[in-house]
Amino acid sequence: MIKFANIIKKYNKLEVLKGIDAEIQTGKVTSIVGPNGSGKTTLIKIILGLVKADFGSVEIDGKKINGDYDYRGNIGYMPQIARYPENLTVYEVLTMIKDLRNRKDHPEEKLIKDFELSGELTKAIRTLSGGNRQKLSAVIALMFDPQILIFDEPTAGLDPVISNRFKEMVFVEKKKGKTIILTSHIMSEVEELADEIIFLLDGKIYYKGSLQNLLIEKGEVKLEKAVAKILEERALWN
Ligand code: ADP
Repeated sequence: MIKFANIIKKYNKLEVLKGIDAEIQTGKVTSIVGPNGSGKTTLIKIILGLVKADFGSVEIDGKKINGDYDYRGNIGYMPQIARYPENLTVYEVLTMIKDLRNRKDHPEEKLIKDFELSGELTKAIRTLSGGNRQKLSAVIALMFDPQILIFDEPTAGLDPVISNRFKEMVFVEKKKGKTIILTSHIMSEVEELADEIIFLLDGKIYYKGSLQNLLIEKGEVKLEKAVAKILEERALWN
């Protein structure tokens, strides 16, 4: 379980997160939702230790993460836009990552088949299509079988077959008891995958709880409509 307690983050004068308290449960898919600039990526980066909160704490399975980065070995992260050394081949990137982890086995083999990347292994990163880069990022996130998986807009650029396969994998990982965090602009995808929602708005949590309860609260059947309603209401307050 990941627990945020009173997380505050400012970039200069801009207060992006204004005291976030939330829990992300094990064995569930939690989707962080909110308009552009609402702090979703910042919150994810705080879990990853890539951004330091100004105040508050993050606990993973009861242990505060401050200053100790060993826990990151147990997180698979698929960023929105991944950067790899452009002149290396896909095979070389995977080998480099395995070397860094001191792994001599081939944890990536099945994933390469599932994501249909076999034909791309000898290609340089700079020649890969956006979709194939995404697929490589998915392989890297999943290959060491981490307990926590963080997917930031994972299906952007994936074709429908692979996108579907990816979603099936998310279900499999969830059944294995993983803690899974997902951000997506595709509300139907959030509906398909998420058990829990954390809705960020203006630096605060507007809603946290089950997807079903959010729909009931808003009197909507579809998440997209519920989200639109929330944002329209907010426009009226401001
Ligand atoms: P989201 O992922 O919800 O779109 P972000 O967490 O990326 O939101 O950004 C939240 C706000 O913080 C935005 O206004 C963004 O411009 C600002 N921001 C993000 N990263 C930085 C940074 N490194 N320096 C300054 N401002 C930043």
